[in-house]
Order: sequence, then C-alpha cells, then structure tokens
Amino acid sequence: MPKQLIVAIDGPSGAGKSTLSRCVAQVLGYLNIDTGAMYRCVALAAQRQGVDPSDAQGLARLSRSVRIRFTPSATGERVLLDDVDVSDAIRTPEVSLLTPKVAAIPAVRDAMVAQQRKMGEKGGVVLEGRDIGSVVFPAAEVKIFLIATAEERGRRRFAELTAKGVQIDLARTIAEIKERDRLDITRTHSPLVKSADAIEIDTTGLTIDQVQQRILQIVQNQNRIC
Ligand code: C5P
Repeated sequence: MPKQLIVAIDGPSGAGKSTLSRCVAQVLGYLNIDTGAMYRCVALAAQRQGVDPSDAQGLARLSRSVRIRFTPSATGERVLLDDVDVSDAIRTPEVSLLTPKVAAIPAVRDAMVAQQRKMGEKGGVVLEGRDIGSVVFPAAEVKIFLIATAEERGRRRFAELTAKGVQIDLARTIAEIKERDRLDITRTHSPLVKSADAIEIDTTGLTIDQVQQRILQIVQNQNRIC
C-alpha cells in the first residue's frame, strides 16, 4: 500500500490552489485542508464580534476559541465555524481583504498552525496555503508552489465570483489581488515564500487538468522513493 504522504500546495491568491488541492486530494483519497479558509474564519468571527484588526490580543483570544472544521459534501468540502456552515460567508471581498491583516498576527498564526499540524500529522493529506512547505510541514514529502500572473489570477477570481452572482469590477479584483500579495509577501511572520525544495508550477495558460496531472506525477514519483 502506498505511503500516506503530506502534500503541501502553496502560492499566492488565485493561483489555482483550492481547485487543484481539491482535485488532487479526491484522486488520492486524501483529506483536503484549506488553511486559507481557517484564517478567513478568524477574520469573519472578528468582523461579526466587532474585534478590531488592530486588536492583536483580542484576535489571538478569538483564534484560540473558534472551532473550525471541514466536512465533505456533494459540492466539495464545507467549512464550519462553531458548527455553522460559513463556506460562502468567508468568501466575500470584505472578508478577503480583512483576512491578511488577521493572518499577519503571530499569535493567530500559532493557533492555526497548531491545528493544521494536528489535522495533518498522520499523512494522507493535501494542505493548501502560503506557509505549508516553509513552516507548517517543512518535511512534507511533496511541496508544490503554484504561481500565475496577477492579471490571470484576478480574471479567475472575477469569473468565480460573478458566477456566484457577486457584483464586482475586474480592475478592482486585480488591484485587490495585488494588495493581498503585498500584505502576504511583506509580513514579518511566515511571509508567502517558496521554499528552496518546492517545485514551482506556473499555471498561467494551463488547464486545471494539465496542472493536476503534473502534481499527480510528482506525488507518484515521490511514492516510489518513500
Ligand atoms: O487562500 P486564501 O486566499 O483563501 O487565503 C486567504 C488569506 O489567508 C491569504 O490572503 C493570507 O493572508 C492568509 N493565509 C495565510 N497562510 C495560509 C493560508 C492563508 O496567511 N497558510
């Protein structure tokens, strides 16, 4: 029986991490952990409870008290925050912009990383995020770093949100992607960075299927070594 690996998929917003992690996890029969959704849950909880993004202590407390779970459904994994399905509520543009601010707070990251390690320690998982290969599981057997131009990523996000009926502007979406990149790359604690041993895949102009095949090939090669 093949070893249950830890597959880390990192990269900036809109590079295709969520879709690919979901597809790859499904093919492998692995659990898919969307770590961005976890930071989004903390941001949503802060918004709802009126905790200011500058209140580091309040956010740290909040991140330790929230209960975040992933549960499979026919339409993909759902995200539960304190037992309530927030899968759509965490994807609004407001929560998207608030999340990097919340995720920059060291105590919030510590709380989330501890939960992620617990969820993934037994292997058989695909974790997607910004710091999986660099911080959460630096010894992950497979490390992928997905990239794409900001314009391409903005167009993808725009298509995704308009398909859900969200009214947005393409130029603004691209500008927001660039702003989130800036916040994620320049933060002091666990910035978005490609680890030296991660395999970079530029998804610009590639189909999901093409990238999925490449990732599965990498996993298969690694399984032969392990
Ligand atoms: O992946 P997604 O766009 O949903 O992530 C939302 C935000 O959560 C990112 O912009 C980033 O600030 C933060 N994040 C993070 N570390 C992770 C995953 C996401 O800081 N591992």
